[in-house]
Amino acid sequence: MPIQICCACGTSYPDTAEPPSRCPICEDERQFVPPCGQVWTTPDKLASGHVNAWRQLEEDLFEIHTHPQFGIGQRALLLRTAQGNILWDCVSLLDEATISLIRALGGLRAIAISHPHYYTCVQDWAHAFDCPVHLHAADADWIMRPDPAIRPWQGKTLEIAQGVTLLRLGGHFPGGTVLHWADGAERRGAILSGDIVQVAADLGRVSFLWSYPNMMPLSAATVRRIADTLAAWRFDRIYGAFPGRQIATGGARAVERSAARYDELLNASQP
Ligand SMILES: [Zn+2]
Ligand SMILES: [Zn+2]
Repeated sequence: MPIQICCACGTSYPDTAEPPSRCPICEDERQFVPPCGQVWTTPDKLASGHVNAWRQLEEDLFEIHTHPQFGIGQRALLLRTAQGNILWDCVSLLDEATISLIRALGGLRAIAISHPHYYTCVQDWAHAFDCPVHLHAADADWIMRPDPAIRPWQGKTLEIAQGVTLLRLGGHFPGGTVLHWADGAERRGAILSGDIVQVAADLGRVSFLWSYPNMMPLSAATVRRIADTLAAWRFDRIYGAFPGRQIATGGARAVERSAARYDELLNASQP
């Protein structure tokens, strides 16, 4: 029997003859059930109508994005280090071409995921490349398809390769994680941020929300804590969750400026 994949959010569920009756990820207020109702697919059906496109973002960083867009529409990022490749976040489609290309690049040392919206089919990626999946234990209840490759981690930071560190920031999800890459942006440092620090449309600021599709805020105190945590790390560039969403330079200042503005707006009375 095939595994079942929710078309709205891309989350995979255990193999059953019939699709599940509901998707708890979509039913949570941080996502949504489409007005037409929940629709399901399988890996084979998904691969028959979609492909993964690749883009090289800098010397050691590739974007993997599914076309036509599927689920939430995020990208996965493949980061090359001297100790092996890291996959940051994930997409539901893992086709033969993607497996061959990643094997040609040396396979994967590890996968790390920012939060439950991007768990997708990470179990299949982990098995294809025989590597662990690091996701924060605070979000473990959102694992819809348990798998021994998943290694929930605890605490505030986890170094998964030299100069590659997961930072738990919380916010959008209690275990919300970003990845700090010391050698990124020509060694000025980069943050791979998922939805936890969301790169905004003008590519000069970021946002911090509890729910993006339902436009629900975080508290000012939470945003301040996230900005203060990031301030301890050296970085100049931020790669957000979606294609084209990166702050090429000035990322650390953009976080601080955006957090200050968020605080002003939440505490002011607009006319
Ligand atoms: Zn869903
Ligand atoms: Zn999200």
